[in-house]
Amino acid sequence: MEPFFDLTLKELELLLGACGNERYRAKQLFKWVYGKSVFDFDLMTDISKGLRKLFKSMLYFNFLSVESTKRSCDGSVKFGFKTEDGYVVESVLMPEKDRTTLCVSTQIGCKMGCKFCVTGKIGFIRDLTAGEIVSQLMTVKRLVGTKITNVVFMGMGEPLDNLKNVIKAIEIFGDPFGLNLSKRRITISTSGLVDALRTIPQKSCVIAISLNAADDEKRNYLMPINRIYPLHAILDFARNYKPDKRSRITFEYVLIGDINDSQEDALKLADLLSGIRCKINLIPYNESPYIPFRSPEEAKVFAFQKILLRKGYTATIRKSKGQDISAACGQLGSHYLR
Ligand code: SAH
Ligand code: SF4
Repeated sequence: MEPFFDLTLKELELLLGACGNERYRAKQLFKWVYGKSVFDFDLMTDISKGLRKLFKSMLYFNFLSVESTKRSCDGSVKFGFKTEDGYVVESVLMPEKDRTTLCVSTQIGCKMGCKFCVTGKIGFIRDLTAGEIVSQLMTVKRLVGTKITNVVFMGMGEPLDNLKNVIKAIEIFGDPFGLNLSKRRITISTSGLVDALRTIPQKSCVIAISLNAADDEKRNYLMPINRIYPLHAILDFARNYKPDKRSRITFEYVLIGDINDSQEDALKLADLLSGIRCKINLIPYNESPYIPFRSPEEAKVFAFQKILLRKGYTATIRKSKGQDISAACGQLGSHYLR
């Protein structure tokens, strides 16, 4: 039996073709499953009974089992899923007025070891399969019944350290016969693995790079990966990244109290990014009992933003979602540290 959520349309076509079926059967299945959320072959009325029986014997829907659901007072919901080998994977659903975003995980733990991040503190356990990534969305979709309009790869793990499976998941999310999410509605956030970044099909998703410091010394301290991909390598990539006229790269900058939130840091950042078409997303640090860093003072966050705005940048402050349920950026996976 093959896990359905692991298969791209092409792979499903090949699989069904190998048993003598026409290619369009794969599209039919994609439409039922991803388009109409029908997970019972017997309800797929445009497929003959004989074929339904065959498909039932070949494919199963690899939903994740739900271990916990925590609702935040701001409307976001954190799901804890149990993998077949007993690990917990977390996803966060964030309903807003005009969209519903799901933040998905790509690894259990993370190798990058960023000093401020709970997932980094866990260390690396394993990559998630493409099916486990797609299944986070499908399991949530089945549970809540609402349409998920946006996906952000900002949960546990470094997406580009699990490149093959992440690219496969993006292909499944974007498939016109399936969920049909447009490129603008899929965002990958990375700590800046430049070599992997270059291999991502440019029109498949939006790219966000976690900068978090405006000089190498500070970035080396906060994000050890900077020793391999230092700022100049990241900026080089960003300068040449022009998938189309409208797209801009996003830089994320986590503001940590008294570490990287000064006016001098803001001026340095403005200088560093000069000439690069980009958006800057400022993320006030979410505290965790497992890490000694502190949130920045609110006034400093606004002062930081003001400097960037004055220098002509688009700079937004990300409102933290789900802080009360440890679902905010960088808080996922804390049960592994308990
Ligand atoms: N590994 C990827 C994606 C997951 S982290 C990356 O690093 O980009 C997603 C975002 O959360 C990153 O921008 C990261 O810098 C930020 N982050 C990590 N810990 C945080 C915390 N405690 N508070 C706020 N943001 C945090
Ligand atoms: Fe990994 Fe991203 Fe956390 Fe760094 S911030 S440890 S890359 S998940």
